[in-house]
Amino acid sequence: MTAATSTALFSEAQELLPGGVNSPVRSFASVGGSPFFVERASGATIWDVEGKSYIDYVGSYGPMILGHAAAPVVAAIARQAEKGTSFGAPTALEVDMARVVTACVPSVAMVRFVSSGTEATMSAIRLARAFTKRRVIVKCEGCYHGHGDAFLSRAGSGLATLGLSSSPGVPEAFAALTVTIPFNDAAALRAALDAHGDDVAAFIVEPVPANMGVVLPRSGYLEEIRELTASRGVLLIFDEVISGFRLGLGGAQAHFGVMPDLTCLGKIIGGGLPVGAYGGRKDIMQMVAPCGPVYQAGTLSGNPLAMRAGLETIAHLKLPETYERLATFGEILASGLREAATRHSWPLTVNQLGSIATPFFVAGGVASWDDARRADTGRFSRFHRELLNRGVFLAPSQFEAMFLSTAHSALDVEATLRAMIAAAATVF
Ligand SMILES: *Cc1c(COP(=O)(O)O)cnc(C)c1O
Repeated sequence: MTAATSTALFSEAQELLPGGVNSPVRSFASVGGSPFFVERASGATIWDVEGKSYIDYVGSYGPMILGHAAAPVVAAIARQAEKGTSFGAPTALEVDMARVVTACVPSVAMVRFVSSGTEATMSAIRLARAFTKRRVIVKCEGCYHGHGDAFLSRAGSGLATLGLSSSPGVPEAFAALTVTIPFNDAAALRAALDAHGDDVAAFIVEPVPANMGVVLPRSGYLEEIRELTASRGVLLIFDEVISGFRLGLGGAQAHFGVMPDLTCLGKIIGGGLPVGAYGGRKDIMQMVAPCGPVYQAGTLSGNPLAMRAGLETIAHLKLPETYERLATFGEILASGLREAATRHSWPLTVNQLGSIATPFFVAGGVASWDDARRADTGRFSRFHRELLNRGVFLAPSQFEAMFLSTAHSALDVEATLRAMIAAAATVF
């Protein structure tokens, strides 16, 4: 019945699941070849069904900041499972989790838990539209906010061009309400607000984009967009689904000291179980049903297993030195690879902040999607394959982040750096 090899499983899967997967990037479509199928994972190590092991830098695309199957998280989930896995009635766990989130994330005074990051962003823009009584959403090229219709559009031509739908199935009429501008370009935001000002409900942005690969906000950018949006009555939404509890307990907003009106969370706050959350100012959040008229609901929202896993994860993140250690390892990887690139004159840009990093196969820096898409994806694909052969698993796309966890050891990081330099040497 069950095939033994990844190749056999993938061909069977392709008969039954579109593309053989339940989320497109997993198919390895952008690097060629076919994916390995996972048997299990523990700490920083992931094993495929054929018994081959890899040092894992995918970390389920962000949630696994304590590494895989962290003992206290597994125990907390098991204890909760015995008490029941979903009730459709409130639990103390949701209150505990809300207290933790509002205490850690400075701009969040009230929060609603949902089941995915996509739900969090979709709900946040519905709320922003209701609160401002405006329709247009501004977003940045290369930022990812889940697969809601409003986010699957890109710029037509030039600044503040009204969006053209970029996925079939998204009606043009929906896409026309999304304006896409470049990241790190406050002038572009100003132009978009000038063009559509009275009708812009919200500017949604990843404060540290990690879905075009990791890109850092240039100094002053977050402050400028905060001021621009505030002065026009536009809500600023930080999508911290990756950066939340990743760049520190307070996410990017605490790291950079810039407070949005609404924040979207996910990934880490579920400790590896399905979760999302949106929260912010009380006067805005009180518009959400049943407190207010903006409808949003979920059968599994605030799921007790996810709340338990999230609470346990965050409790461990609060231990001293956690983020310092993660950042140290991130810096070792990034600076080691940069030094090798300089030594060999490789056209390589390494962006890193704390425990997220991306090696871009392009010289000269990457500060926007326009920069990122100049990267040599063919070279990245070969690099990716060479790393797999050396037992290191990076996300199978140039435009993703590497995620470190507290389970990565100094030896893992050293071995990874050596493997990355050796792999890079074969592709240049
Ligand atoms: C992953 C991600 C989402 C979507 O979350 P899902 O749980 O996959 O729906 C939204 N925004 C950002 C920044 C993300 O990284």
